[in-house]
Amino acid sequence: MSRRAPTRTVQAGIDQDRAHGSVIPPLHLGTNFSFEGIGRPRTYDYTRSGNPTRDLLADALADLEGGAGATVTASGMAAVATVLHTLPHGARVVAPCDAYGGTHRLLTAFADRGIITRELVEAWRPDALRAAVRPGTDLLWVETPSNPLLRITDLRVAAEAARSAGARLVVDNTFLSPVLQRPLEWGADHVVHSTTKYLNGHSDVVGGAVISATPEGAEEVAWWANCLGVTGAPFDAWQTLRGLRTLHLRMEAHLQGTRAVVEELLRHDVVAEVHWPGLDTHPGAAVAAAQQSGPGAMVSAELRGGREAVEAFVGALETFVLAESLGGVESLVAHPATMTHLSMPEEARRAAGIGDGLLRFSIGVEHPADLVADLASGCRAASEVAAAVGV
Ligand code: PLP
Repeated sequence: MSRRAPTRTVQAGIDQDRAHGSVIPPLHLGTNFSFEGIGRPRTYDYTRSGNPTRDLLADALADLEGGAGATVTASGMAAVATVLHTLPHGARVVAPCDAYGGTHRLLTAFADRGIITRELVEAWRPDALRAAVRPGTDLLWVETPSNPLLRITDLRVAAEAARSAGARLVVDNTFLSPVLQRPLEWGADHVVHSTTKYLNGHSDVVGGAVISATPEGAEEVAWWANCLGVTGAPFDAWQTLRGLRTLHLRMEAHLQGTRAVVEELLRHDVVAEVHWPGLDTHPGAAVAAAQQSGPGAMVSAELRGGREAVEAFVGALETFVLAESLGGVESLVAHPATMTHLSMPEEARRAAGIGDGLLRFSIGVEHPADLVADLASGCRAASEVAAAVGV
């Protein structure tokens, strides 16, 4: 019987405990596993290399993304670093100029030390992507929608460009989760996740994963994760699997709240622009509609009145929490210029379009009416400041 994805995720590892019949999978915290005899290891020997609890999560993630296998890592950045380690020395990497700040920092550090050469590109522009990914390119890195401006990269264009250059395509799918986008179906070789975000969904585990299109790709990533010692802890995997079981439900609730929030933001003059791929006015709306199953629950907005307006807005909020990260059940607001993207040099930040008036929202699963009321208070406070400074 072929079961649907939400059923498979809810049922991952359920009722498989032969020892006691525990309905949910037991948590295997052990670091090591006994051998049956000399030269006769069991399935597992040492938890850095393999662990039954972590493998359950890896299998559930591979299933959701439609991959041949997955490696669960200690953080999203560990997943990014592991993929970069599969490259030969001096590899040419093309990456978005507005990549997640930590990814940007790692690519820059590797480039500064001569480990890779790196070209940053406005990946949402197909012509720029095609021009940058030429023969000799080893890796094309894509994040779509991008952080924090929700720009959309066309996965079909990215896959074609990578294929014709003989490069690997890696897609960071953190912002949407496999419920809303499955990049392997568009030709990606690996998908990267910060499972810290939607996949766990409760802001209580830092973790990551790489899901690979082929068994060989999965094996190479697993080899590097073990070699580097960045595989995830069993307890984290167990908790993340628990979070994952409600992913489909949570994504529906996230989207419902997001629609209400976007409508509200658009009503206020102090909001100069709303970035959300679900808006017809968004430059990537058509591509998003083609390659995503929904617009996602990340929104960013430019306020008139710059830093002062932003401070007034955030100061008036009671439900949204001012914090980094995203994808949890609770709604968050972040100021990318001073928070998530602070590690980016100011010049790079400006080039990526991240100004002082930009706020990023991660819409949680609270009642949409409460989120709307909270943002209305923020907008009122910000417009008073904007009017006082004459904007
Ligand atoms: N990729 C994206 C798109 C992210 O937003 C983040 C973190 O915010 C990461 C990767 C890194 O993940 P982690 O913080 O779990 O290391």
